[in-house]
Amino acid sequence: MKFIFVKLVISLFVILFLRHEIAFADKQELLETAFIKESISVRIYKNLKNTELNSVKVKLQNENRNIKIIEKENLTFDVIENIKIRDYLAGVVSKEMPLSWPLEALKSQAVIARSYMYAKLAMKRGDGYDLESDHMDQVFSWTKSNRAYLAVDNTHGEVLVYNLGVHQPFEIVKAYYHSDCGGHTVPASLVWPGAVDTGTAKDKSCAIRHSNQWQYKMMRSKQVNYSHFKKYKDKILFIAETSIQKLRERIGFHLIKNSPSEIEVGADFVLLKGRGYGHGAGLCQWGSRDLALQGFTHIEILKHYYPKVVMKKFNSILNRKSLTELKINQTIVEGLYSYSR
Ligand SMILES: [Zn+2]
Repeated sequence: MKFIFVKLVISLFVILFLRHEIAFADKQELLETAFIKESISVRIYKNLKNTELNSVKVKLQNENRNIKIIEKENLTFDVIENIKIRDYLAGVVSKEMPLSWPLEALKSQAVIARSYMYAKLAMKRGDGYDLESDHMDQVFSWTKSNRAYLAVDNTHGEVLVYNLGVHQPFEIVKAYYHSDCGGHTVPASLVWPGAVDTGTAKDKSCAIRHSNQWQYKMMRSKQVNYSHFKKYKDKILFIAETSIQKLRERIGFHLIKNSPSEIEVGADFVLLKGRGYGHGAGLCQWGSRDLALQGFTHIEILKHYYPKVVMKKFNSILNRKSLTELKINQTIVEGLYSYSR
């Protein structure tokens, strides 16, 4: 009996080990495939009706856009566009951050956009395209802005990675970012259970910005115990068992702008007060703007917001020869940056 039990335990370990190895090999292969891509497929329209599709098609064909139309079971259509990676990243930078902001802040945004893109490309999707063009992934639209292209070109190949050791040489960080932290950022795992923490940061400028204060009054629900909440520093992240992120999704991101720092419970209302905008994990865009204005480089800005990761520069990503080199680890990885000032 004891012998059978030992055999079962050993088999279980072997199965778990093999599954881990296969999952890892799978991910590596996806990442390697991603690095030789020159372009990616982005879903730029979804669930179009037949009549809408016709006018969209004419417009896109007049602009010589490289599109593919997918007909779905419910007789609606998706439009997928093949976009060169450089154009995609410049388009994301132009939509995710005001282009009038300092170049070092735009460059930080470009590195994050590139990291997020590769992290997503390393996940299997199987739904006919790589990325959404809206907030489900990163907001994209075509741009002609020199500043957007400068931010992308001046950070060519730079991505944020975890250094995971010999058997798992690296993993690209799915880098989160938000508009305004209100004074400090929060661990990603407290916003989305299971998310990897990339470290947190304090922003003096966000704690005193006049324009970022908000409040929201809502009906008091009898089922909720409002005196039972969980905080990270001064930010309330859970009320009773509900996460603030879930509450924001339900009530509106523009109403409960981020994690509140004060809660006032009246006879029939609850007043939430806070500072900042967005989920609060990863890079704070307003804070990165302020740091750039103070003379910080994009590398220093990224180190400030992601202290637990490293930045690496991949040369010759588009060179097919680099595929095998990538397999034997880090030979094409160059320029591990020093963050010291
Ligand atoms: Zn901030």
